[in-house]
Amino acid sequence: MEDNKGKEVSFRDRLSTVDDTGKRRWIYPKKPSGTWFNRRRIIAYFLIAVLFILPLLKYENQPLFLLNIFERKFIIFGAVFTPQDFHLFAIGMVALMIFIVLFTFVFGRFFCGWLCPQTIFMELVYRRIEYLIEGDAGAQKRLNEAPWSNSKIFKKALKHLIFLIIAFTVVSFGLSFIVGIEHIGETWVNPMANFTMFAVIFIISMMFYFIFAFFREQVCTNVCPYGRMQSVLLVDDSIVVHYDFYRGENRASQKERIQKIKAGEAKEEDFGDCIDCHQCVAVCPTGIDIRNGTQLECINCTACMDACDIVMEKIHKPKGLIRYASEKSIKNREPFKFTTRAKAYTGVLFLILGLLTVVALNRVKVEGIILRTPGMTYQYVQGDSTHIVNLYNYKLINKTSGDIHNVTFKVTNIKDAVLKPIPDKVDLIPKFGRATGSIIVTIPVSEMEGYKTPIKFQVLADGKIVDEPKTNFLGPH
Ligand code: SF4
Ligand code: SF4
Repeated sequence: MEDNKGKEVSFRDRLSTVDDTGKRRWIYPKKPSGTWFNRRRIIAYFLIAVLFILPLLKYENQPLFLLNIFERKFIIFGAVFTPQDFHLFAIGMVALMIFIVLFTFVFGRFFCGWLCPQTIFMELVYRRIEYLIEGDAGAQKRLNEAPWSNSKIFKKALKHLIFLIIAFTVVSFGLSFIVGIEHIGETWVNPMANFTMFAVIFIISMMFYFIFAFFREQVCTNVCPYGRMQSVLLVDDSIVVHYDFYRGENRASQKERIQKIKAGEAKEEDFGDCIDCHQCVAVCPTGIDIRNGTQLECINCTACMDACDIVMEKIHKPKGLIRYASEKSIKNREPFKFTTRAKAYTGVLFLILGLLTVVALNRVKVEGIILRTPGMTYQYVQGDSTHIVNLYNYKLINKTSGDIHNVTFKVTNIKDAVLKPIPDKVDLIPKFGRATGSIIVTIPVSEMEGYKTPIKFQVLADGKIVDEPKTNFLGPH
């Protein structure tokens, strides 16, 4: 569909990566460069370095970071989390959902452009290799359309071989966050002895290779659930990559301007700053024209911002025709303001993060669960109606990466309480291990507060308090 000026206006009716016959239109984005790209490159390479270095780091002979879902062992920066910390996981998940929603309200698709692994590997790794071997967009297109020759076979084979090596390397390091770098190392040294792991690495690596070699931007436009949610998450105040239509329109190419001005049909001031050079479209990895407004396909990669800034520099106009801005700030023709709503949302984001950090830091390292033995009620001490006995079962869980020695128990809130643990001593709870047993507690009747008396235990390891579980002591009415 075209408007009365013959311009394409059906951009919202179809995907930029699908042609009129419904077939995939392969995108050949021009190599991006510029200030924003350099900033993104620093962050991307830093994150890639983290991916490769973090699995190698150890703390107290344990990985610094491990998310072993199979053995239900999670280590986050040295702190060990077990299934008993599930409540933290639940809080973390809820916080993450709120965080995603609020973050997108305020900062739009910042995550997609700067932090998403798909964008980082596609734009900063795979495409860079493609540019290096096959050349810029035009050369790539020519090479793809050319008949097979020795040079084409060599370039394609080299590119795909490097793509595969990267896929296997990244997947191996990625999986080492789950099973540990040692297991991955053993698998590569002896694949047959670790066949299951090898098969997992192989299958995921081939999927990874397929995505970055062929599927590419389709992930962002058709698969990614976060991308699909943008239409409901973005608001007028969200900061996104935006074309300043007030400044840019009435757009016209340099040639058209000169012709119209010469013919007396228009004056220089009748035109906007956009010279319709299509550089912003040429660099877009999802093949869209940002001048049509915010679109689902836009991953906020900033490539069009850089491309347009270079054009603006050349024609001596201020940079920022395409810039980070909110729809509202462009519509109202005012500089971008960090609105009260955005400030409030950001405040809530920090609050959530702070809360989660406090909860995580304050979680107990040894969890003591002491409960009355099921089916047992109270008893008087034989031949002594002034003392009552309750029987408890205990379970101690060592969530640390070190052994715990000499575990003892105390009752802190009842005077003259006497404890008899069974077995007598807990000499050792190994790292990530547990210990179970019983405790007979005897207290004077005079200390009872009624049918149920609150009782507070202390669990000590080498004389230091490691947990303070609470329960009840039963007695006569
Ligand atoms: S429109 Fe611009 S920011 Fe959005 S994906 Fe394309 S190049 Fe990146
Ligand atoms: S790069 Fe800038 S000047 Fe060129 S078409 Fe895009 S918005 Fe217009």
